[in-house]
Amino acid sequence: MVPELFRILNSARLSVLGPLLFGGAVCRGPSSSNRVALTFDDGPDPDATPAIAEALERAGARGTFFFLAPSIEAHPDLARRVAERHEVGTHLYSHDRETTRRRESFEADARRAIAVHEAILGKRPSALRFPFGEPGRVRPADVRALGLVAYHWTFSSEDSSAAHEDAIVSHVAPRLHGGAIVLFHDGRGPGSRKGTGSRRPTVRAIPRVLEALQARGLVATTVADLFDAP
Ligand SMILES: [Zn+2]
Repeated sequence: MVPELFRILNSARLSVLGPLLFGGAVCRGPSSSNRVALTFDDGPDPDATPAIAEALERAGARGTFFFLAPSIEAHPDLARRVAERHEVGTHLYSHDRETTRRRESFEADARRAIAVHEAILGKRPSALRFPFGEPGRVRPADVRALGLVAYHWTFSSEDSSAAHEDAIVSHVAPRLHGGAIVLFHDGRGPGSRKGTGSRRPTVRAIPRVLEALQARGLVATTVADLFDAP
């Protein structure tokens, strides 16, 4: 958690974040920054997640992984290993649209996911990504009441519909800029309908995306760190 960001979200100064918000979710950091947040939904996945985490680490970068709680339960050692170095947010437990159709079901699902983080990772998550990026009927106050900050994305890598890493790199590289939050996937969420489900194109694209960032003097860090004044 970034105390300053949380304080702003909890205060009347929310309006200062106005241009950075989409449906109550943070969708970009300050454009004056040289920081970019690469974010990964639907993991942990034993094939894709370690390779992506290692590529980030080789580049001296950090990422944000929005893990599905049942996959943390299925791969606890992998989840812990990622959490040592990167930010692990929650992508909730059920990953269906029903979860956000009622505030009560959102709260129950989020509490169930938070309990998994506490039991296996020893820490509550502070970052949330809604399933499919859709807040549904959930209000910003419902998210804050759980100690979470919701993050959307500035642009998607479109990796779910990419058959080859070239498509991802040529889509992402020209769009990179300071403050951007970029959506990728290191797993496959229940109910996802797009693509083949293979994350190999994403795994192969990440080192090239990191090279593109470096070439422009941009640094890949976590969503929370976008708001840390350099
Ligand atoms: Zn998802």
